[in-house]
Amino acid sequence: MPQILDGIRVRDAILAELKPRVDDMAARGRRPGLAVVLAGHNPASEIYVRNKVKACESLGIYSETLTPPDAVTTDEMLEIIARLNARDDIHGILVQLPVPKQVDSKRVLLALSPAKDADGLHPCNAGRLMAALPGPRACTPAGVMELLKRYGIAIAGKRAVVVGRSDIVGKPMAMLLMHENATVTICHSKTPDLPGVCREADILVAAIGRAAMVTADYIKPGATVIDVGMNRLDMRADVVRIFRDSPEKLAAFDKRGSVLVGDVHPLDAAEFAGAYTPVPGGVGPLTIAMLMANTVTLAENLVAQTLSLPRPDSSGRAPVRPATC
Ligand code: NAP
Repeated sequence: MPQILDGIRVRDAILAELKPRVDDMAARGRRPGLAVVLAGHNPASEIYVRNKVKACESLGIYSETLTPPDAVTTDEMLEIIARLNARDDIHGILVQLPVPKQVDSKRVLLALSPAKDADGLHPCNAGRLMAALPGPRACTPAGVMELLKRYGIAIAGKRAVVVGRSDIVGKPMAMLLMHENATVTICHSKTPDLPGVCREADILVAAIGRAAMVTADYIKPGATVIDVGMNRLDMRADVVRIFRDSPEKLAAFDKRGSVLVGDVHPLDAAEFAGAYTPVPGGVGPLTIAMLMANTVTLAENLVAQTLSLPRPDSSGRAPVRPATC
């Protein structure tokens, strides 16, 4: 029987470890604070943000959601970020993607203070990851690393294949695995013989965005298969095809009108992998746990930095925070 890598269990363990750190800061009057900028109307983003706010509440982290309208401009977003950068009660800032199409997301991301970059996506922090320097890491790949480590899955010396090269998942995932001494191959839509390359993997990470694309012919028997994908099936025929008439999934579809599936074929993973993440309940919960972990660490760092700054001089000028990139 393959091992099911339970993201909910690992998430709960991570949150339980964070709680005393949050309580300790709160007791000293420095409650960690996370600001989420949710621009425009996007139902999926609204659900993600609601879950992030709930996680903050359960831990005692202060959270604030800013909701500029669909028509927000890049300059208005830059003003929002500048105000959040300057606030002492906000230690982490997250810009929920995607932003409305007229907004230049790269400029907005660059405007974030790297010291408040809760998602770990600012180029400064991407560079720190590349250089193996400490800094906030992209939440989803960081969550995958926690999962692998806490389940005792060997990484050093193993062949890892990451399918997907996004800035949010694929690239940082590959870098984190390489830093743990895996031999890493990154694949994408132009990779020839993708199934053949994937079959070389002891650790296969699928971050593609294509429902159940990774089938048995991609999986080396006994491999660890990490499914980052989250795809909503809203056609009954797709549920029948992918879940092979599973009465349980069809009942779920008939009740809700859709069913979630990852990028890996769930029945093939269960048959051929040595260990795998389910969808839902695998990687998803870890993304939020790592967002909380980043926020707490950023808060601890910012508070420590503020306390070590010189006091205002005789003219009453506020101390200047050193650049942190
Ligand atoms: P993305 O930016 O769209 O990147 C997808 C990557 O997959 C690209 O590099 C693309 O290659 C590659 N790809 C697409 N079709 C392919 C094919 N037929 N063969 C090989 N490679 C292919 O997506 P993302 O943001 O990384 O997200 C990937 C998936 O993870 C999505 O399902 C998303 O919903 C999910 N996700 C989940 C979480 C979570 O918390 N669980 C977090 C983030 C994302 P090219 O570069 O060549 O186009």
